[in-house]
Amino acid sequence: MNSPRDILQHVFGYESFRGPQEAIVNTLVQGRDALVLMPTGGGKSLCYQIPALARPGTAVIISPLIALMQDQVAALVQSGVKAAYLSSTLDWQETQAIESQLLDGRLDMLYVAPERLVTSRMLEKLSRVQIALFAIDEAHCVSHWGHDFRSDYLGLSVLREQFPHVPRIALTATADPRTRADIAVRLGLEEAEVFISSFDRPNIFYRIAQKLKAMDQLEAFIRREHAGDAGIVYCLSRNKVDKTAEALNQRGIKALPYHAGLTAQQREENQTRFLREEGIVMVATIAFGMGINKPNVRFVAHLDLPKSIEAYYQETGRAGRDGLAANAWMVYGIGDVIKLKSMVDGSEAGAEFKRDEKGKVDAILSLCESVQCRRQLLLTHFGEQLAEPCGHCDNCVEPSPTWEATEAARLALSTVYRTGSRYGVEYMVEVLRGERSERVVSNGHDALAVFGKGSDIADKDWRSVFRQLLAKGFLQPDIEGYGALRLDDRCRPLLRGETTLMLRREQSKTLTPKKTGGKPALDIASEDRVLWEALRSKRRQLAQEQGVPPYVIFHDSTLMAILEARPRNLREMQHLAGIGETKLERYGEAFLSVVNEYA
Ligand code: ADP
Ligand code: ZN
Repeated sequence: MNSPRDILQHVFGYESFRGPQEAIVNTLVQGRDALVLMPTGGGKSLCYQIPALARPGTAVIISPLIALMQDQVAALVQSGVKAAYLSSTLDWQETQAIESQLLDGRLDMLYVAPERLVTSRMLEKLSRVQIALFAIDEAHCVSHWGHDFRSDYLGLSVLREQFPHVPRIALTATADPRTRADIAVRLGLEEAEVFISSFDRPNIFYRIAQKLKAMDQLEAFIRREHAGDAGIVYCLSRNKVDKTAEALNQRGIKALPYHAGLTAQQREENQTRFLREEGIVMVATIAFGMGINKPNVRFVAHLDLPKSIEAYYQETGRAGRDGLAANAWMVYGIGDVIKLKSMVDGSEAGAEFKRDEKGKVDAILSLCESVQCRRQLLLTHFGEQLAEPCGHCDNCVEPSPTWEATEAARLALSTVYRTGSRYGVEYMVEVLRGERSERVVSNGHDALAVFGKGSDIADKDWRSVFRQLLAKGFLQPDIEGYGALRLDDRCRPLLRGETTLMLRREQSKTLTPKKTGGKPALDIASEDRVLWEALRSKRRQLAQEQGVPPYVIFHDSTLMAILEARPRNLREMQHLAGIGETKLERYGEAFLSVVNEYA
């Protein structure tokens, strides 16, 4: 039996374990259960892949998505591991072949979907072979609290009953304590050792800005900071996904749509292209993302507000899994606030559920409006403390000034009241700025005392005042969703002069790439460009020949290591991160000759 460290170095090509990996691996190697909470990109896979190889027998890994299984298996096979998956995409013969490998004990790892695992046919087969461990990936799927509940996961409780002596490990990137408790109970892991990592993602730069002309802002962001990079753009509706993808393509940025309105085949095709080609922007609803294992997604952009901080964190977490610099970028405007708030109010749900949902909306709004460090706020939300501001988010790098807005806020609130709580923000701004528009005049609102009282404040600043009043809950949108505003009881102390109010002053932020953390994620010096492109093109060619995504051959970080080290022979190459023995044997010469030719 090989030691975990040997396996880490020789099979996977990594020098040392990261964070709690070693302790988790040891727990399983010793035959005990583990429950692992680790953020996306934290390195969950090795936590079960290494004990899978260290223990005798076949490890069975339960995973909810075919794409994810295929990807993992492809990567393992590249590293010389005997891995396979069973899914509905295989024909009868392929299935037979894999099953007989299993029965002959010729597999190190077998990936299976939960619905297949719990069939009596599969359980019967498993009872006849030696099993190294069971790993339950994306374990939050067992909980109703999470957003990815799958009833098939409930059946996994059978594993403890039928295989009481096989160690089990459940893994998730969902931090929510309720979900965690649910996982332990439903999977029978009450006795398991629990490993909770920090949920900080230090390589992600967080930025939230005011929505002006969203498409122009998005285009500028991509061009300036992510030309040629892969990224994900999230939108709320299918329609907006289609429009945004089209607009990006028209502007010369390669983009594909993904949402539940496309046929399964279109979705599959777009997803595969996103994984296999380089530099594609996926424009998607929340239907896209879980199990997308692509390590080099360089940015995640939001054109609409997500429904909760959990959702925001989950979605932005898909950027930079490889640990290299990545961006989380969002623009939001007053329309988003109104939409989210009235969606909750207008829903048919019960009172308790509504209160929950409202709390979530309030939390994401306060994240957006805050002048505090974004990372501190995010981590606090997940029960972690960050002692110092992070220095790696927009609020740290370019703090927003605040201003004494008590008077302006009172004026805004009384304008809502005096006009009968029947109009939206644009109308309020007209009245405040003293514009004699047709509708203002015909309503006689030019005769109000508040008319023109706010002419010294610019339109966009008024909009920002209203947005912040909405975010703070001083104003509420009507539930019909037409954007009319009414006062909330929460504004009374302010109107009565009992409190004052500071608001964030909106600036047109000019965050340069330099400020966001230095550089484009992959900062290749100009003299290295030729070699870099040659290495990438070699990788692309090898990937295409085998029909696998390029990152399955080598990650960007490994190519970067080759670029920096310029190895002259296999011995020098084998020390680079991500090059295990099998990959060295398979690809070492090919990449060495590229280095020789271009360096
Ligand atoms: P998760 O499943 O938690 O999102 P992965 O298992 O995909 O994360 O790992 C994220 C990245 O970190 C991968 O590129 C992986 O190869 C790399 N990685 C994991 N563990 C180590 C380690 N000990 N040393 C170096 N790189 C690692
Ligand atoms: Zn910060």
